[in-house]
Amino acid sequence: MKTILVTGGAGFIGTNLCRYLLNQGNHLICLDNLYSGREINISNFKSNPNFKFIHHDITQPIDLTGIDQIYNLACPASPPAYQKNPIQTWKSSVFGIYNILELARKNGNIPVLHTSTSEVYGDPTESPQKESYRGNVNPIGIRSCYDEGKRAAESLLFDYFRQYQTPIRVVRIFNTYGPYMDPLDGRVVSNFIVQALKNEDITIYGDGSQTRSFQYIDDLIFGLDKMMNNSQDFLGPINIGNPNEFTINQLANIVKKLIPQSSSKIIQAQELPQDDPKQRCPDISLAKKILNWEPLTNLETGIIKTIEYFKTQI
Ligand code: UDP
Repeated sequence: MKTILVTGGAGFIGTNLCRYLLNQGNHLICLDNLYSGREINISNFKSNPNFKFIHHDITQPIDLTGIDQIYNLACPASPPAYQKNPIQTWKSSVFGIYNILELARKNGNIPVLHTSTSEVYGDPTESPQKESYRGNVNPIGIRSCYDEGKRAAESLLFDYFRQYQTPIRVVRIFNTYGPYMDPLDGRVVSNFIVQALKNEDITIYGDGSQTRSFQYIDDLIFGLDKMMNNSQDFLGPINIGNPNEFTINQLANIVKKLIPQSSSKIIQAQELPQDDPKQRCPDISLAKKILNWEPLTNLETGIIKTIEYFKTQI
């Protein structure tokens, strides 16, 4: 049994991770400022004596002792959420990881798994994206608070490893969906399912030919666990995502097919947002080789489970 800190623990991925780690019998400290995380997500855990919630903003230093591992997830992650207050987003990534790495040192240089993102590849000029690809990010665009914040965080992690030998683990997460997503967070999977359930128009941005590769949350959680506890002390960065690539038009049609009673129409609602990547697909050969990990849930199976969740939310 370990004492594990999960920052951003009330968000979509954080909630699923807290549940998984609690089920393994660990003591959990969940830290969140509830900017995009939701207290309702973690309400069921609060009666568990192994669970402790701390309302704290990771941009401020924090003093905790007796921790064995840290998963750093704290950062708004949907484009509308991270663009609403871009300075706070940048601080969450950059000041946040600095505060967490200092906390790790004070606790005896404990492992820090940092959740980076496929956004470090920007609008990629090669596909699928390997970890060695250095990306095509606009450093001054509306997505850069997130992309460059995450890139700066990665560089600080590797400097802590070089300077202090902090055992870091850097995971680049590709688009992920599933239960505990915020129905209002504005991401494509949540938008389309909620729109279809409410018989509202399904809103395609641009012509819908842009692609994403969608990973079900349970696959990601296994990947995070394998990376944190990998016996080879592999630092990363490592891609964790599902390599099955779909256009946004295909996704809209799959959601419609899986909610057959919906009267929603699929419409082209607006131009493609600035710097919206045209394609995204992970090369996961490294994760297969080093972690013996690959995703097991196909898109339709995962979307059906996610529809069931959203039915309880709206
Ligand atoms: N998108 C869309 N309709 C929506 C929300 C998003 O067509 O209602 C598009 C968006 O422009 C992008 C893709 O879906 O091309 C994925 O968007 P999301 O916000 O989920 O995440 P991203 O991968 O862009 O960070």
